[in-house]
Amino acid sequence: MSDNKNNAVYTNVLDMIGNTAMVELSNLDTGVCRLLGKLELNNPTGSIKDRIALNMIEKAEATGALKPGQTIVEATAGNTGLGLALVAAQKGYKLVIVLPDKMSVEKEYNLKAMGAEVIRTRSDVEKGHPEYYQDLAETIAKEKDAFFVNQFGNPANVEAHLKTTGPEIWQQTQGEIDAFVCGVGSGGTLSGVGGYLKSKKPSVEIVLADPVGSILAPLHHTGEAPPAGKWLVEGIGEDFVPSICDLALLDHAYSISDKEAMLASRELLLKEGLMAGSSSGVLLQAALNYCRQQTEPKTVVTLICDTGNRYLSKLYNNDWMREKGFID
Ligand code: PMP
Repeated sequence: MSDNKNNAVYTNVLDMIGNTAMVELSNLDTGVCRLLGKLELNNPTGSIKDRIALNMIEKAEATGALKPGQTIVEATAGNTGLGLALVAAQKGYKLVIVLPDKMSVEKEYNLKAMGAEVIRTRSDVEKGHPEYYQDLAETIAKEKDAFFVNQFGNPANVEAHLKTTGPEIWQQTQGEIDAFVCGVGSGGTLSGVGGYLKSKKPSVEIVLADPVGSILAPLHHTGEAPPAGKWLVEGIGEDFVPSICDLALLDHAYSISDKEAMLASRELLLKEGLMAGSSSGVLLQAALNYCRQQTEPKTVVTLICDTGNRYLSKLYNNDWMREKGFID
């Protein structure tokens, strides 16, 4: 046990969002580099999205976009929904979540347990289709005269990372950071953390970890977006470029297959004792690829985005892994 653990007594659960610990991933082959994982799974609902949920709601309250008693609507891969469910319950708002059908059943149960209404929609349609989760959420918000959070176009998403995640990483590494590896769902993390770190130290390399099938890594490499494919990893990879996502910050991009991602998450649990979700597997594999290509020692930071507890029916279930052909 370390003697520098945080012994603070918080006045409420929302104050526990952020200020997450960082741990060196020392049991993995990181070549000449030091790889640090920031434990976003330690946020109250178990993901990095608690940070943006709180900031987006508090910004909307401050500007009057969200009024007392109004319903909140959001499209999410699940984690933003869980963060919003926490904040909404604490502050007394009703919440409606539009969740694509590929997302795990654990997320749906968890959202419902926290008092949210969950509407499942198709995962096989693209932006512009009325059943695409973001379009459907916008329609429902209009019908209900509700507040549509819209993390994909909401500057308060980026701001949460500019004000908290970025500065925390800078302080925890005491500025000794050479590269930051992240994925893109909404692009809030990339734009906020990437933007903050580059402003402090322009030589910090920003590395995209992207699922195979997403348009973002190919767009970085060729300047053109291919047709979007399909992937099983939840929370990152895109079929369009969200308006808040600043791809110009990127120095490198790696495409990681579902199989590589799931196996990397499982290895993280067995070797480092951290039970993370599938998006963290994409980040970890991209970070390891980057580390192993370096010839000079570097300090590389990545995120452990969310807890693996919400993927017990999937990547931590051997039957599911076998069925998908990821293990023998
Ligand atoms: N990991 C997980 C598990 C997520 O749910 C998300 C957001 N959907 C991200 C990473 C991506 O973060 P961002 O939206 O900031 O790009």
